[in-house]
Amino acid sequence: MSKFWSPFVSALVPYVPGEQPKLSRLVKLNTNENPYGPSPRAVAAMQAELGDALRLYPDPSGERLKQAVADYYGIRSEQVFVGNGSDEVLAHAFHGLFQHGRPLLFPDVTYSFYPVYCGLYDIEYREVPLDEQFRIRPEDYSQPNGGIVFPNPNAPTGRLLRLEAIESILQANPDSVVLVDEAYIDFGGQSAVALIDRYPNLLVAQTLSKSRSLAGLRVGLAVGHPDLIEALERIKNSFNSYPLDRVALAGAAAAFEDRAYFEETCARVVASREAMVADLQALGFEVLPSAANFVFARHPGHDAAGLASGLREQGVIVRHFKQARVAQFLRITVGTPEQNQALKDALGQLIER
Ligand SMILES: *Cc1c(COP(=O)(O)O)cnc(C)c1O
Repeated sequence: MSKFWSPFVSALVPYVPGEQPKLSRLVKLNTNENPYGPSPRAVAAMQAELGDALRLYPDPSGERLKQAVADYYGIRSEQVFVGNGSDEVLAHAFHGLFQHGRPLLFPDVTYSFYPVYCGLYDIEYREVPLDEQFRIRPEDYSQPNGGIVFPNPNAPTGRLLRLEAIESILQANPDSVVLVDEAYIDFGGQSAVALIDRYPNLLVAQTLSKSRSLAGLRVGLAVGHPDLIEALERIKNSFNSYPLDRVALAGAAAAFEDRAYFEETCARVVASREAMVADLQALGFEVLPSAANFVFARHPGHDAAGLASGLREQGVIVRHFKQARVAQFLRITVGTPEQNQALKDALGQLIER
């Protein structure tokens, strides 16, 4: 704390990202990165930007990227917003769409950045408990609110909500924005982008960090009615006119255009996830059904924090959350078959001991 700070800064509770270790030998299964590299076409497009063109500012509105997203989904570019990682897009949505003096609703077990943004933008919130099987119950979102947000699939549980359930939440809340954070949708879910023409209160956020393997590039997007997009543009243009640089815009557009690579790598991750679930179950773990590139699992005979530190000693890092309801779970990112084998071997040793 310092006398120079604006007073509210000392009350902020910032988000704590998963560890990015300096050691490269570690089997890194803790932050849901894609084990396969980005599309070679995306890499080539980024390399082509590295030259004299960098003395010029990028396109402030990222029109070519918006068009690539619009083409991918068969929508219009004015239904697309792009930003510096979906975390930034989410922040603008909280800022521009959720400050209504009524509580924002989100699940009690969910992405831990949501309460952080509420703190930053002074938004009251109410946590809605997941059911016993860690599922979102749509009927619980029929209560007065200033907005609703949840990931689909949810994080860190991996559980998917079907589109009909999302529609029932949208229909019950015609006066609120429902923000569906689809960071993991490409690993087994159906995107709510299909609903945007029917629900002017629906905003869908996505990221290129997971399924398009560009976490290091920082590109995210939102899709929805042009009125919602305009609110995000107004916030963005009051904050940073150029959140995406030339390299990011070129790489992200090319990644969206390379469907074949995207589909193939997602399919490989999904196949590895199913193998990982079977391996964990064989070791005695209970594994929640996952539609993401990670699994959420607990072992009836072993403490999760102990397993996480035991894994770390063997060079495998996974994520453990201390939060009460899920303190006995590990969130494990799906890696390559070799990484998953290393996890299985290390867990086998810890569990047999
Ligand atoms: C990873 C993740 C994000 C953030 O993605 P970035 O685009 O890398 O900022 C947003 N929401 C959820 C639920 C995530 O897991």
